[in-house]
Amino acid sequence: MTTLPAAIIAALRTTLDPTLASTPGTTGVALHEPRFQGNEQRYVQDCIASTFVSSVGPYVDRFERELAAYTGARRAVAVVNGTAALQVALQLAGVEAGDEVIVPALTFVATANAVHYRGAIPHFADSAPDTLGLDPTALRDWLQTTTERTTGACRNRHTGRRLRALVPMHTFGHPCDLDGLLAIARDYRLTLVEDAAESLGSRYHGRHTGTFGLLGTLSFNGNKIITTGGGGAILTDDEHLADQAKHLTTTAKRPHRWEYVHDAIGYNFRLPNLNAALGCAQLEQLPVFLASKRRLYGRYRDAFAALPTVRLMQEPPGGDSNYWLQTLILEEGPAEFANASLANQRDAILTATNDAGLMTRPAWTLMHHLEPYRACPRAPLPVAESLAQRIINLPSSAGLA
Ligand SMILES: *Cc1c(COP(=O)(O)O)cnc(C)c1O
Repeated sequence: MTTLPAAIIAALRTTLDPTLASTPGTTGVALHEPRFQGNEQRYVQDCIASTFVSSVGPYVDRFERELAAYTGARRAVAVVNGTAALQVALQLAGVEAGDEVIVPALTFVATANAVHYRGAIPHFADSAPDTLGLDPTALRDWLQTTTERTTGACRNRHTGRRLRALVPMHTFGHPCDLDGLLAIARDYRLTLVEDAAESLGSRYHGRHTGTFGLLGTLSFNGNKIITTGGGGAILTDDEHLADQAKHLTTTAKRPHRWEYVHDAIGYNFRLPNLNAALGCAQLEQLPVFLASKRRLYGRYRDAFAALPTVRLMQEPPGGDSNYWLQTLILEEGPAEFANASLANQRDAILTATNDAGLMTRPAWTLMHHLEPYRACPRAPLPVAESLAQRIINLPSSAGLA
């Protein structure tokens, strides 16, 4: 009888070997590698030749226009990274020092950090097993018991602080239950800001993620579905907010032929033209990446179909996922297996696959287990706790299919 780690390695090999055989010399398989097979060289060269490599240049404007057109947002503002995008989006959503902001416990640390940079306090909420994103049913129950609604505001009964915003995140590219979360935002007077860092190309009922809240944010870090080296963007349908986002992220300098007048404390968060040039070329490739990732999902699904104790994460109902990362979820076994044994199984699988040169990774450490966020308010988190012990991300690069 083969062990579960051995069976998983066999399934990974079945899926990946045909691709690896056509690229001789490959020793290991990465979790997620960028791919530059379009106009990347050309646009970057053009940028260097023009000398406009830094804070202004035509590629920044073009990248913003093309991002808006692709996502259907009225405006896109390109910035230096996804964390800065979220920080500024929260500022424009009215998040002030001392406010609380609902974020998932199961997320990358940048979501919580952006809240902290505003002087606000992250308030962690649980995830749903079918989306891996915030669970509206559990969140509504939690807000019902822990908050009170006064005129125009929602307060945490225990801390007395105002809850100002709700920040869903589309985990590994899978759209979360936006209908349910938008209804909560409306009922509890919370401003919805989407952390869509992982979900460029993902849609919810046909509409692009990141365009449902007042503002949404994207990341183009090296491991995301497209990359600008480092970069991010703020999406919004509100022209005034977009203008403010541009102003705040470019040192809040008033336009003038020579005077240096700054009418607010802004940030140097602009995306350099050089990075935007890379972004324009990558955006042209996005449809190819999406098709290839969906193909890889299909291959993994077939390869893992025979393994009864694992589930390959599938796009949730109503969602079109970009399948940025492929995710294996160890299923809760019969009652005699406690969660601890699943965590042990997970570690055995991570060890065996990484030893075999197949890069796999667990989910992030949950936010409330991180030292800086241990004391933050939080809802009961049974699903996030369970998922964190059962998630294994698989090699997911677009080039693998
Ligand atoms: C990547 C990511 C970000 C932003 O990351 P940057 O590296 O700052 O571009 C934010 N939130 C989530 C969930 C992410 O995965």
